[in-house]
Amino acid sequence: MPVKPTPLQHILIVGGGTAGWMTAAALAHKLAGLPIRISLVESEEIGTVGVGEATVPHIRFFNSALGIDEAEFMRTTKATFKLGIEFRNWGRVGDSYIHPFGAFGMAEDGVSFLHWWLRAREADGNHALEDFSLPVQAARRNRFGPPSQDPRSLYSTYSYAYQFDATLYGRFLRTLAERLGVQRIEGRIVDTALDGASGFIRSVTLASGQSVEADLFMDCSGFRGLLIEQALSAGYESWQHWLPCDRAIAMPCESVEDLTPYTRATALQAGWTWRIPLQHRVGNGHVYASAFIDDAAAEQALRDGLEGAPLAEPNRLRFLPGKRRRQWVGNCVALGLAAGFIEPLESTSIHLVQLAIGKLLELLPYRGWDPLDAAEFNRAMDLEYERVRDFIILHYCATQRDDSPLWNHCRTMSLPDSLAHKLELFRERGVVVNQRDGMFLEPSWIAVYVGQNIVPCRVDPLAAWIELDRLAARLADMAGACRQAAAAMPLHCEYLRSINAAAVG
Ligand SMILES: Cc1cc2nc3c(=O)[nH]c(=O)nc-3n(C[C@H](O)[C@H](O)[C@H](O)COP(=O)(O)OP(=O)(O)OC[C@H]3O[C@@H](n4cnc5c(N)ncnc54)[C@H](O)[C@@H]3O)c2cc1C
Repeated sequence: MPVKPTPLQHILIVGGGTAGWMTAAALAHKLAGLPIRISLVESEEIGTVGVGEATVPHIRFFNSALGIDEAEFMRTTKATFKLGIEFRNWGRVGDSYIHPFGAFGMAEDGVSFLHWWLRAREADGNHALEDFSLPVQAARRNRFGPPSQDPRSLYSTYSYAYQFDATLYGRFLRTLAERLGVQRIEGRIVDTALDGASGFIRSVTLASGQSVEADLFMDCSGFRGLLIEQALSAGYESWQHWLPCDRAIAMPCESVEDLTPYTRATALQAGWTWRIPLQHRVGNGHVYASAFIDDAAAEQALRDGLEGAPLAEPNRLRFLPGKRRRQWVGNCVALGLAAGFIEPLESTSIHLVQLAIGKLLELLPYRGWDPLDAAEFNRAMDLEYERVRDFIILHYCATQRDDSPLWNHCRTMSLPDSLAHKLELFRERGVVVNQRDGMFLEPSWIAVYVGQNIVPCRVDPLAAWIELDRLAARLADMAGACRQAAAAMPLHCEYLRSINAAAVG
């Protein structure tokens, strides 16, 4: 007779950074009422990575699934709204485009808007794609308002994310998780005991001598991969050939410029800088390739670009772009930086944590451990990481810059086959390779392709028949509607004030 599998009794989360507390809050919420204990070990002495302030729109679903009130969240984490990312100097020095969380124009007569736009551009050459995006028009005017649920409204054509203080978000989630019964254990793990027969993790031992046993271990210990790598040797796949940046310096500063509803990523000679405006300060960082610039010069480049006085000493970070070969090994699942890190461009890391939590909950194991669970989790996460990887590499390889060794490398490097195929299809036919789901869908790819001056050679034959006067009038209407709708939105700072007042009131 088959043995009846026994349910999990104790889940131990190792690490209290954003990944650890997101996992704790989500598991505690989902498993509430079940006899499954959840604990989290973290070490104040080690601390967290202390960066990770920009997000993608999916985080709103994470927060709302946990019953988080948006106004309270915004006020507590000093958050601002994000309609997209402005990329400066990526195609050529002096270029600027915004990758918005929303669509460009509207498809008509079975032809995608991209091809109507290409047709008009071919005829008279003077239409900017961003004129047909409401979120871009709003972002350029520093305006923000919540999207409409009415699909007939132009205000339903975009989404939004947040820019927040990562430390405050961690604390916010910790309060929530502890309220839901998660037990926090303070201490530094110094040893991991494996079961001799299965090789699974049995327990971890803290510096105090305390030993903690569990059935399932969530490794959220950051870059070191305390369990997944140091104890279980999952292996690491480096993507540095395509993503040469391997260091970062972060430094917040006083806010001087307008409170923009978007993140800015400015390409420099040997990397790029981020600017993330929060309510109380601006987060800045320089992500760079150590093969092309030394640390002192990288720090100077960051300081030179600060808009206000620095508010902290520089936080220096090193990383290797890539991912663990297996993110679930035995009874250990890695999330966050312990699972991998592609690089901060496009702010994907927190979302990958969210995806991994969702996948784990779908495949929540018994104590009997079915290797199928781990295989499926690893397959799904590999796919997500590779899709994000290709999208990030696109920003580097689709450059025309020839002013520094980094950009010369990126412009001429060999690409993963999966990306080379996507790029060729877009360049030749204006087709965005279809993927059913994933983090970045068609409008995102179009934003970066066109923003970095990759314009398809051929227009969809169906678009060739349109009467050009009618097309020009249609496009002028659409651009006018976007401009007017954007101008009618509140200023971002005013909308934030009203949200904060609602949270207090
Ligand atoms: C330069 C940079 C910029 C980034 N920007 C973004 C961004 O804009 N958007 C985004 O989504 N992501 C971003 N990320 C990624 C983001 O910071 C992380 O995904 C997120 O903070 C989660 O980190 P973590 O919790 O996995 O690791 P960490 O924050 O490093 O937490 C690790 C935890 O493990 C604990 N720990 C480690 N070892 C032990 C031990 N021996 N005993 C006990 N506890 C231990 C630590 O104390 C800590 O609590 C960025 C990352 C970098 C490097």
